[in-house]
Amino acid sequence: MSFVDLHCHSTASDGTLPPAEVVRLARESGLSALALTDHDTVGGIAEAQAEALSLGIDFLAGIEISAEFPHPGTLHILGYGVDPRSQELGSLMRTLLEGRDNRNPKIVEKLRALGVAITMAEVEHEARADTADLKNKPIGRPHIAAILVRKGYVSSIKQAFDKYLAPGGLAYFDKERLTPRQAIERIAQAGGVAVLAHPVQLRTGNDAQLERVVKDLVDLGLEGIEVIHSDHDESTVDKYTHLADRFGLLKTGGSDFHGSNKKDIQLGRAAGRRIPRDYFDALRDRLNKLHTTASAAG
Ligand code: AMP
Ligand code: ZN
Ligand code: FE
Ligand code: FE
Repeated sequence: MSFVDLHCHSTASDGTLPPAEVVRLARESGLSALALTDHDTVGGIAEAQAEALSLGIDFLAGIEISAEFPHPGTLHILGYGVDPRSQELGSLMRTLLEGRDNRNPKIVEKLRALGVAITMAEVEHEARADTADLKNKPIGRPHIAAILVRKGYVSSIKQAFDKYLAPGGLAYFDKERLTPRQAIERIAQAGGVAVLAHPVQLRTGNDAQLERVVKDLVDLGLEGIEVIHSDHDESTVDKYTHLADRFGLLKTGGSDFHGSNKKDIQLGRAAGRRIPRDYFDALRDRLNKLHTTASAAG
């Protein structure tokens, strides 16, 4: 039996390990395949892919995008097999970065009004200190949280979110998001397959509601559900597995590893489980079919 991880973050977004190091850790953890799914960017893909090739582990390009969804839920869509060089993806990333550039200064301004000593320059430095692609790196709340921890305003990343950065927090601002339709369509245009990330975070009230959401997303082109995830437990993993099977969707799984930004998450492990290689193979088969059809048509 061999295992994989199809959801993780690097310094290309808000993880703390550079892309190549995430791949090395995957190898050390005995994984046979990995997909890197940074928020809003494929900036880490080239580096990770090169390392995967040299270490002999299988690799898929990925991206994770937040879409509009009613409070208190959140809807994240994973895009697998997107072409990092496609123009469509480039324009998608620019849109997503703009949403962040509009939001982050508002958070910082609000924090300053609350007496917190913080500037946008510091936030940019925090986010970009460890990255080659400075201009295009998505800056997120975890970068702001890290500053609040370091300066002693809070004692942990979690507390930074609870007190300031999460919905209901003193300095919360939402970013502009794509609609679910836009997110799924843009992933398809970039040659990828769209998968619903961690459905537990939708916070749907009951199973009927969950099914309705999934059905609507499938109508928009969704092709899979992330059934194994660190926020899932045994019973939700089973529930999402059945749901995926009933809708004929791909099943995926991942840890949502962020390095030391999420200390309790280990690469390759989630919900007390490991992620079976079959999930990766089925996803890659689907992508191979898609791309064969696309090139035959084009
Ligand atoms: P952003 O991209 O700025 O919207 O921030 C999203 C990132 O913040 C994701 O990596 C989340 O996992 C992380 N995050 C969201 N809520 C919390 C929380 N309550 N505690 C810790 N991290 C969080
Ligand atoms: Zn993240
Ligand atoms: Fe997510
Ligand atoms: Fe994630």
